[in-house]
Amino acid sequence: MLFVLSAPSGSGKSTIARRILQQFERLSFSVSATTRPRRPKESDGKDYFFLSREDFERRIADGGLVEWEEIYGNLYGTLKAEVDRVLAEDGHLLFDIDVKGALSIKELYGTQAVLIFIRPPSMDVLRERLVRRGTDSEDVIERRMQRAEWELAQSGAFDYEVINDDLARSVPEVAGIVLSHIQGSQE
Ligand code: ADP
Ligand code: 5GP
Repeated sequence: MLFVLSAPSGSGKSTIARRILQQFERLSFSVSATTRPRRPKESDGKDYFFLSREDFERRIADGGLVEWEEIYGNLYGTLKAEVDRVLAEDGHLLFDIDVKGALSIKELYGTQAVLIFIRPPSMDVLRERLVRRGTDSEDVIERRMQRAEWELAQSGAFDYEVINDDLARSVPEVAGIVLSHIQGSQE
């Protein structure tokens, strides 16, 4: 199964993803490629494969990406080799990708893909979280907030929607969705 978490940046999907991954043995994180600069706490090959724009564009031309998008001036994409490797081992994947990427995964993988939309409690809370995270400049936060409006309007295309007000509630809710689909796929 392919579990896709999508949400406006700052909604808390990476935080939720980290906690969900600890709970399921056969669930791996789909490590995307990006041209965005690495944040201090991130590591190459674990959070992202950090590539130069030239290298990324070469991989697009070679057909090495399942889907890709340009977001906030950087390229982000899912590496075909990563997805194929995990699926060949009968594992499950958890994606943390944008709304357009999620819809592309659904189109490619159909019922094998489960789309989960993570909604922030409000736009004010979303801005607060982005500021508190401290990884983006004011200008970048503004761009992320503008894109958020459009992203929130796409939630109807998702299989599930989870409001991330309190992690103590949202994490078990996402875990429950993942568990039910993993169990269903084994029947
Ligand atoms: P995303 O991956 O969606 O961009 P992050 O997981 O980086 O978002 O979360 C953005 C910020 O909000 C982080 O500082 C994170 O610790 C915080 N955060 C996430 N979920 C919650 C929550 N339910 N309540 C309060 N803060 C949260
Ligand atoms: P960030 O810079 O905060 O890590 O990510 C910015 C946005 O890019 C987030 O919405 C994130 O989910 C999305 N993203 C990360 N990897 C991919 C990917 O492989 N494909 C797509 N389409 N979006 C991605």
